[in-house]
Amino acid sequence: MAGILYLVPTPIGNLGDLSQRIVDTLAEADFIAAEDTRVSIKILNHLGLKKPMMSYYRHNTETSGPAILNRLLAGENCALVTDAGTPAISDPGEELVRLCADSGVEVVAIPGPCALVTALAVSGLPTGRFTFEGFLAMNKKNRKRHLDALKLEERTMIFYEAPHKLVSTLEDLGDAFGPDRRISLCRELTKLHEEVRRTTLGQALEYCRLNSPKGEFVLVVEGCRPLEEDSISMEEGVERVRRLRAEQGLSLKDATRQVAKSTGLPKNELYAQSLTAES
Ligand code: SAM
Repeated sequence: MAGILYLVPTPIGNLGDLSQRIVDTLAEADFIAAEDTRVSIKILNHLGLKKPMMSYYRHNTETSGPAILNRLLAGENCALVTDAGTPAISDPGEELVRLCADSGVEVVAIPGPCALVTALAVSGLPTGRFTFEGFLAMNKKNRKRHLDALKLEERTMIFYEAPHKLVSTLEDLGDAFGPDRRISLCRELTKLHEEVRRTTLGQALEYCRLNSPKGEFVLVVEGCRPLEEDSISMEEGVERVRRLRAEQGLSLKDATRQVAKSTGLPKNELYAQSLTAES
């Protein structure tokens, strides 16, 4: 019978967050697949565990994935750990889960530390509906496309970011959403210098430019305020489309969709009349 792939979270800063189930799963696994064995060995040493390890990281998934799968198919149980937090969340693991699922190998996720959930919970922003956006692309064009697609996003948005890119990311977020949009800058969660700064994008940028804060960050950004549903004439609707396009740089299609949604005006007619007004 095939073994089980366990996704085992590890602390994002505080070793006290190693739950009993996490410890038991590591202790009972036949081997451990780790993003960086030098990082994970410290946790094993802390727990007094000795286990065979193999590495599974972003650049060896093509060879390491099938090797792990073969051991699982041969009946061994594997605990997958990454450097910190929950495997497969902006971490290696997603592909291995897919590989196992496609091969009929059972995958069990152990709940535990995860930076995005910790940040969202403490952010003070609405938690009822949210979207996890991970890391923004390095490439300027892809980054812009990603942020443009979020301009009308009404759910709270969560971003991961590396410390050295914090200022440029805040600049880009400010350009996309405006300086008044609320943000919670969640730094060094669960660690000694944990800090949550609930502010606006404009003020966050000013603060970070002046202070160059160090450490790891999750950025939790308020969603776009929904426009009030109200009844307006077609002429006013066309004017709203024009303003939205001028102020937020939206495409005609997106602006029309937004105004139609908030006013109940027929979308196709609004689009046609806005197009005529522009030509
Ligand atoms: N899989 C991990 C998880 O479950 O959260 C995330 C790994 S991702 C490669 C690393 C990013 O998570 C960092 O760049 C940072 O944005 C965020 N992060 C991790 N630990 C953090 C902490 N203690 N405080 C704030 N952000 C943290």
